[in-house]
Amino acid sequence: MHREPNLTNAALLARRQAAIPRGVGHSHAIFIAKGENAEIWDVEGRRFIDFAGGIAVLNTGHRHPAVIQAVKEQLDKYTHTCFQVLAYEPYVELAERINAKAPGDFAKKTLFLTTGSEAVENAIKIARASTRRSGVICFSGGYHGRTLLTLAMTGKVVPYKAGFGPFPAEIFHATFPNALHGVTVDDSMASIETIFKNDIEPSRVAAIIIEPVQGEGGFVVAPPEMLQRLRALCDAHGILMICDEVQTGAGRTGTWFAVEQSGVAPDLITMAKSMAGGFPISAVVGRAEVMDAAAPGGLGGTYAGSPIACAAALAVLDVFEKENLLERSRNVGERLTTALKAMAARHACIGDVRGMGAMVAIELFKNGDVKQPDADLAKRITAEATARGLILLTCGTYGNVIRILVPLTASDAVLDEGLGIMADCFDAAA
Ligand code: PMP
Repeated sequence: MHREPNLTNAALLARRQAAIPRGVGHSHAIFIAKGENAEIWDVEGRRFIDFAGGIAVLNTGHRHPAVIQAVKEQLDKYTHTCFQVLAYEPYVELAERINAKAPGDFAKKTLFLTTGSEAVENAIKIARASTRRSGVICFSGGYHGRTLLTLAMTGKVVPYKAGFGPFPAEIFHATFPNALHGVTVDDSMASIETIFKNDIEPSRVAAIIIEPVQGEGGFVVAPPEMLQRLRALCDAHGILMICDEVQTGAGRTGTWFAVEQSGVAPDLITMAKSMAGGFPISAVVGRAEVMDAAAPGGLGGTYAGSPIACAAALAVLDVFEKENLLERSRNVGERLTTALKAMAARHACIGDVRGMGAMVAIELFKNGDVKQPDADLAKRITAEATARGLILLTCGTYGNVIRILVPLTASDAVLDEGLGIMADCFDAAA
């Protein structure tokens, strides 16, 4: 593999620290030189298996040939125009194909943006314009982005929110259900009633937004009953139901959208990350009449749904069909879950193995006691994994969850190799 002369991770880290604000945190002191499917090589020529998929941006792996080809073809035609100024067909085709994939027996429309945070911001703008109400109910442990509105909606204070307030008003947090910690769906629904009683009447609430599986919050799965009851509650009060599928969407959980598995059709869904194999694009898809509530010119942006990102996203949709990646997502999930359960049987510190489809995580506790989250162990395991050639990522309110977001295109051999390294890490560091 080609190696840049005189580039070491240590030298680059020093340059990074001098040139880039520390607020852009880093979980690994590795600088990538090349990526291919589920493998990467760093600037020193070391190979790593990527179980983080660049934080889920890569369901189709690093540099999928079909995505690269589509982008090259697009580059040869035109690179960019703002869709609002000079429109282009790939944007329209992508919207049509996403409209057809979103759940619900009603007409849909899709808006493209660039980041997950923007998708959430725009979903809230659209919900407010449509309902002419302002309140938004979100959930404890939820993560919706790094802009001021999405930070207001995000649960965790450190490091995301600390020092950045004041935040936009009219945002309220209900309790997310968490079976492991004894929070039931009833408790969750009751917390929304408490908000209605103490903070804001339901008639002033525009939207309730929920991640079907909390991503940054620790891969906590909302039981189907929770989503069904939220749907009924929203219907009863004329509130819009939004699912934030920025992390769960685009096939990660075994269905195109995670919420499909509960049989619920939200009014709006946000997605981003894996949509375009690493090219920056996000989307809001939803009920056509709701999506049309904003006046012409109220939505969009210079780079929103760029032609290159649209071409990449269309190629990703084709790859999903050709390579049967939804089924693969379920298979990968089963393979990971079986191996991680075997690890949990050997190590009491692994207190839970959970997830949906190929979105799988383990939660670590001292002495297996769910009241004692073990973030230090999660850090030690991920550091050990890096040393042994495996990229792992932590998440969770207490930082004690290790999540796996491996490309769905990874071979079984690479999956097993990565799982073997994980098992060695637990034997060495747990
Ligand atoms: N919503 C969810 C559920 C996410 O997981 C994320 C990213 N981790 C975001 C929103 C924000 O996306 P972005 O970083 O692209 O702005």
